[in-house]
Amino acid sequence: MPEIRPAAAGGTRCLALLEQSADGVLLLDPATERILWANGRLLRWLGYTREEITSLTEGDLIATEGSAVSLERVQRVLREGMIPVQLCCYRCADGSLREMEASRSLVSRGVGRLIMVNLRDAAEIRRSYVSSNDTLTGLPNRSLLLERLDGEIARAKRWGRLVAVMVLNLDRFRFVNDALGNRLGDLILCAAAGRLLGVVRGSDTVGRLAGDEFAVVLGGLRDVRAADIVARKIVGAFEEHFQAGGQDVFLTGGIGITVYPRDGDDGETLLRYAGTAMRHAKERGRSNHWFFTPDLGAAVSESIRLDNALRKAMEREEFLLHYQPEVDIVSRRIVGLEALLRWRSPEFGLVGPERVVRLAEESGLILTLGDWVLERACEQHAVWLREGLPGGRMAVNLSARQFHQPKFEEKVAGILARTGLDAGFLELELTESLLMQDAAGAVRTLRELRNMGVRIAVDDFGTGYSSLSYLKRFPLDKLKIDQTFIRDLGVDPDAGTITEAVVGLAHTLRLRTVAEGVENEAQLEFLRALGCDEAQGYFFGRPVPAADTERILQAEAGRLKTGDRWLERDA
Ligand code: C2E
Ligand code: MG
Ligand code: MG
Repeated sequence: MPEIRPAAAGGTRCLALLEQSADGVLLLDPATERILWANGRLLRWLGYTREEITSLTEGDLIATEGSAVSLERVQRVLREGMIPVQLCCYRCADGSLREMEASRSLVSRGVGRLIMVNLRDAAEIRRSYVSSNDTLTGLPNRSLLLERLDGEIARAKRWGRLVAVMVLNLDRFRFVNDALGNRLGDLILCAAAGRLLGVVRGSDTVGRLAGDEFAVVLGGLRDVRAADIVARKIVGAFEEHFQAGGQDVFLTGGIGITVYPRDGDDGETLLRYAGTAMRHAKERGRSNHWFFTPDLGAAVSESIRLDNALRKAMEREEFLLHYQPEVDIVSRRIVGLEALLRWRSPEFGLVGPERVVRLAEESGLILTLGDWVLERACEQHAVWLREGLPGGRMAVNLSARQFHQPKFEEKVAGILARTGLDAGFLELELTESLLMQDAAGAVRTLRELRNMGVRIAVDDFGTGYSSLSYLKRFPLDKLKIDQTFIRDLGVDPDAGTITEAVVGLAHTLRLRTVAEGVENEAQLEFLRALGCDEAQGYFFGRPVPAADTERILQAEAGRLKTGDRWLERDA
C-alpha cells in the first residue's frame, strides 16, 4: 500500500480534518509501521516532503524513545482515561532532533486498519504547562482552574447538575514557613496538595490559588450534601500531622463553599464568594467549613474594615498599654507588672488584645506592633524605676512570629539600650505552643536572652500540650499557671491536685510559679498553702492605664515605708 487512498481513512473529509489538526499527524500501516500519510504541520516540523516521509517507517524517524510521561499527561490519563503518551525524539530532515509527545490509537475505517499517531511539540507543551500550572505543586493555577470551572458549569447547565467550589486556606502557614524555612514550607505545601488530591475523585479539580490557598471544583453533583461530605474529608485528611525536617507539624485550615447555580453562575463569582465564606469559616476557629450565604458579604466587609483600621492604628497612636501587678504571695509585695495591649479604635471601640494579636498576625503587622509593645513597656518601666517606684520586673507577652524572627535577641538588646532599662528588669512571656514550633531555635534564642539577664516565663501553662519534663529542655525562670485551673480551686478537687502537682514539679525544676486570674482571698489562701510563689488577678487589681499604675506603685512605696502589706491591713 504505497499510497493512502481517501476511502481507507474514512474519506477525504477525514483527511481534511487531520490536515487542519493542531497536532502533527502520521498514519501508519499497522503491520509494517510504514508511514502512509502525514499532515502538512508535521511535514513542516520535521522538514520532509510527503514523498520522502512515505518512504520511511515511524521507526526510521524515532531517534530515542523515552518512557517519560509528563505530569500533565498523567493527570489527564487519570481524569479522562486516555492512553499514556510517550515522549520521543524525532529525526528532522536536516539531522536535528525534535522532542515530541506521541499518542497512538488504532483506527479502523472502511477497508483497512490504520495506526494514527498524534504528535505534539514537547517544548510547546511545557511552555503551556508552566503558564497554567503552579510550578511548586504541579496543580492547576487560578486561570486553568477557572477554565475547568467554566467547563463544569457549562456541563452542569446542560444536565441540570450542581457544581461546588471550595476555597481552602491553611491556618498560620506563615508561622510554619518562618519557623521551618521556605524549603520545608514548600515540602509541606506539596504534601498538603497530595492530601487534597487523595480526598477528591479523579474527575474533580484541585488547584492552587496562592501561597497557602487551594481550591477544589466538584462537578456534576446531584446534591449539595456531597460538598459537605468532601469538606469533612478534607478536614479529616489534615488531622494527621505533617513531617518536615524531623518535626511534626500540625496544620488546620478553613474551607468556604459556593454552589452553582445557587450562589452564582460564573466561575469568578463562585470563587470570590467561596473566599468570603472561607474567611468566615476561619473567624469561627480552626478546621471549619462554611457554605456561602448572601449575608456573609456584610460580615466580611466588617472584618476588612477592622483590618484596615488596624493598619492605620499605629500611626494614629490608638494602641496603649495597661499594666497589672504580680504579687509575691508570702510577702504581698509587688514583684512585677505585666504589660497588656489595648486598642482604642474610634470606629470599633476598645478591641481586646487576643483579637488584635490574631488580626495583626494575619496582616503581618505583628512584628511592628510587637516591637512597639516591647519598646513602650521598657521605656515606661525605666521611667518608673528612675522615679524610685517599686515595680519589680516588667513582663511583656510575645507572639510566635515575633519570637521566631531572626536575631530576635539582638532586637531586644537594642530596645534595652535605647530605653535604658536594665535587662534584669525585663521578663518575656511565651506560650508552650510557641516553644514547640521550633524547639531547637527556641532554645538558642532563650539562651542568648538569658545570658543578657532577661527572664523567661511560660504563660498560660497547662493549656498547651507540652509536659513539664519537656519544658526541662528550655532555659526558663517561671511558670504562669493558667487561670482556668485557678478559677476552679476549691470547687473542683482536680484543679487543686493539678495546681499542686504543677507547683511541686516546677519547684524541682527550680522554676517560680505564678497563679493567673486570682480573684478572691480563698483562692489566694489555697495557693499559699500549695506553695505557689506569686499571684496575679483582679483580687489585687485589674490591668489599668499607666497613670493608675503609677498611683498603685506610689501606694506600694508608702506601704514599704510603713511595713504594711497589700490588702492585708492587720498582718
Ligand atoms: P495573658 O498574658 O495570660 O494575660 C492575662 C489575661 O488575664 C489578661 O487579659 C488579664 O486582663 C486577664 N486577667 C487578669 N487577672 C484576671 C482575673 O482575676 N480574672 C480574669 N477573669 N481575668 C484576669 P487580656 O488583657 O484581655 O489579655 C489577653 C491575652 O492577650 C493575654 O493573656 C496575652 O496572651 C494576650 N496579649 C495581651 N497583650 C499582648 C501583647 O502585647 N502581645 C501579645 N503577643 N499578646 C498579648
Ligand atoms: Mg501574659
Ligand atoms: Mg496568661
